[in-house]
Amino acid sequence: MIDYRSDTVTRPSPGMLRFMFDAPVGDDVFNEDPTVNELESYTADLFKIEAGLYCPSGTMTNQIAIKCHTQPGDEIICDELSHIYQYEGGGIGFNSGCSVRLLHGDRGRITASQVEASINNRDDVHKAYSRLVSLENTANRGGGSCYDFSDMKAIREVCDANNLSFHLDGARLFNALVVKEEKPEDYGRLFDSISICLSKGLGAPVGSVLLGTKEFIKKAKRYRKIFGGGMRQAGIIAAGGLYALQNNVERLKEDHQHATILASCLAQRDFVGSILPVETNIIIFEVKGRFTAKELSARLKENDILAIAISATQVRIVVHLDIMPAMIEETVTVLNKL
Ligand SMILES: *Cc1c(COP(=O)(O)O)cnc(C)c1O
Repeated sequence: MIDYRSDTVTRPSPGMLRFMFDAPVGDDVFNEDPTVNELESYTADLFKIEAGLYCPSGTMTNQIAIKCHTQPGDEIICDELSHIYQYEGGGIGFNSGCSVRLLHGDRGRITASQVEASINNRDDVHKAYSRLVSLENTANRGGGSCYDFSDMKAIREVCDANNLSFHLDGARLFNALVVKEEKPEDYGRLFDSISICLSKGLGAPVGSVLLGTKEFIKKAKRYRKIFGGGMRQAGIIAAGGLYALQNNVERLKEDHQHATILASCLAQRDFVGSILPVETNIIIFEVKGRFTAKELSARLKENDILAIAISATQVRIVVHLDIMPAMIEETVTVLNKL
């Protein structure tokens, strides 16, 4: 099977597995796992942020960040396609008792003026208290779209002027970093908290890291325990994340090249309508004419290719490090035959 369903389907490479096998471990709830400690400080240093916290998932790092930044009754401002709203099981309400102000952005990206216009009057007792702005970079449902750094900076300024915290869901931030040739530390300066996924395109089997000030991470650690995310000899999986950060960042460019090849093939096919601009490793396209999105997904599956119909009319292809050049060739051959 050539599996384009998500960049979460990757399996640890032999090199990563050896590194995991050899990792020194201890009880992380006692702060005694040297590998977890190393992963957290390595990631924090990379972003020039004070501290990091290893968690089982990106949903948990996002939800802990939201919990830390807010009080029940507060409001979070984000794009309507955001993972924190769409795909975290209603966790904003469940865990933090907050409401959400959903903005209609451009491929998952919102602007400073949209944010400014959505801040409630704090003196009006009828209104939820605007507390937090959350961005997603790259934006999954935006087809892996990337923010321009200046646009995020403009949002930061609105946050500063209005006493709002600023969180980044950076599940695929490294894809944006290699495309835009930006530095992690630029992001470290800009955001109050950042969530990084190790189990997406970076290819680790488990986990995410939450970054913030020492004080923020101290609070986050308490919530991680309450949410049931305190792990013991977690170094064994954290080692996969450390290996991923040290070996699998630059190669993300290959995934982006592969995505471009597939997109230009799709653009030639009569059953493909509009394709969202391909900036990183995700292709979201309209299916028209001969197939519905579901039918196309089924036809691909008959040819041992997996891709998800994410709506009645759209299919998503996600490229990752287990997709080899020969698989891209094979996919192009299949697409041209359909
Ligand atoms: C995958 C993902 C997450 C976290 O997902 P988990 O499966 O909980 O690790 C968060 N945000 C975005 C944009 C994602 O794609």
